[in-house]
Amino acid sequence: MSTPVDTLLIHAGELLTARGGSHGVRAAGLEDPELISDGAVALRGGRIAAVGDTTTLLADCAPAETVDVEGRLVTPGFVDSHVHLLHGGSRHAEYDRRIRGLPPSADQPAGIAATMAHTAATSDADLLARARGDLDVMLAHGTTTTEAKTGYGDGIAEELRLLALSSALDHPVTVVPTFLGAHALPPSHAEDREGFLDAVVAAVPEVVGQAAFVDVFCDPLGFTPAECERVLAAAQQAGLARKVHADQTADVGATSLAARYGATSIDHVDFADEDAIAALAQAGSVAVLLPGVAHHLGELTPDRSGTVAKPHLPAQAERLIDSGATVALSTDFNPGTSPTPSMQAVLELAVRLLRLSAPAAWHMATINGAHALGVADTRGSLEPGKAADVVVWDVASHQQVTHRFGTNLVHTVYADGAPVVGRRDP
Ligand SMILES: [Zn+2]
Repeated sequence: MSTPVDTLLIHAGELLTARGGSHGVRAAGLEDPELISDGAVALRGGRIAAVGDTTTLLADCAPAETVDVEGRLVTPGFVDSHVHLLHGGSRHAEYDRRIRGLPPSADQPAGIAATMAHTAATSDADLLARARGDLDVMLAHGTTTTEAKTGYGDGIAEELRLLALSSALDHPVTVVPTFLGAHALPPSHAEDREGFLDAVVAAVPEVVGQAAFVDVFCDPLGFTPAECERVLAAAQQAGLARKVHADQTADVGATSLAARYGATSIDHVDFADEDAIAALAQAGSVAVLLPGVAHHLGELTPDRSGTVAKPHLPAQAERLIDSGATVALSTDFNPGTSPTPSMQAVLELAVRLLRLSAPAAWHMATINGAHALGVADTRGSLEPGKAADVVVWDVASHQQVTHRFGTNLVHTVYADGAPVVGRRDP
């Protein structure tokens, strides 16, 4: 007997399910994608009702609407798990100097402090409009779930304003809010580091029910491991899941600290050593790699002194994969070090800069991203019962998405079963 469904997509040249086990897709599994040729997927009530080949689903389903995708690639939507969504301003002038090896302009604020000042000067309405515009771009490039971190508030009151705005976005992209109170010391607290940390710790219980995660920037450019431990302990005490920006610019022991606190994800990990990587894998934390940062900061090309800051990114990715850890990819969308909201761009950069295979990059950007964001039960793969977040591509193979660069290959996006992006009828 045929099952009634709302929409049946048929004749996918390749349907990539990104189905994984209880910890996503790891190690050798990354190279073994589940691909269904002449694939089909049935959507009902915003969820996936069935996945299989076209002949089987045409026999099993009674669709209200049938869409022939004419040999195109069909995949889950991307899950972008590390996103500094809420911010004001742009740092293009700073970038123009940095990329030429010049020091920041003496009369302009630079870095996170500059974005804190821009954000403080931006109204709620303008921050929401900006963030919704960025979500539109994400969706157009295939992202259906994203994180939204705070972190650009000049003080705790501003941080709580950004957190409240992240709940008010009302967009087809599913948004998971994260409280990143300990990102960088705000200029307003430049003389009161201890007092600011006290305020972050005190705010943690207040964000229960608003934030899914508490995050810290544990790095010489952010906060020390001892300072971060205070925030992580408060999060654990409050029953909030943890994320950590760890060992991005130096090995300060942040990855091991994050593993000890059972962080859901440990992000960057550029300088984490073998022992720290083993601890991360043992803890079941997801390692989130952010190749947009290495690309944008020019860390893989020598500066004019001949210095290469991070020559070992492919080796570090390989160590993480070989450790058996779950590894994810994300944009790190932010105005300073990775100003792209496109996961499609990140896939292209990941295979090139981290020397990943196409199937590995796809798993890392979908189901493993969902694990990094704590939403793998409902998002990140094409499996019956999960949300119907489905992307139809203008190419036939998942390998073509990582091969082409600099152009948007999305044809149609369904979010929770609704067609929300479509350039033309198939
Ligand atoms: Zn970040």
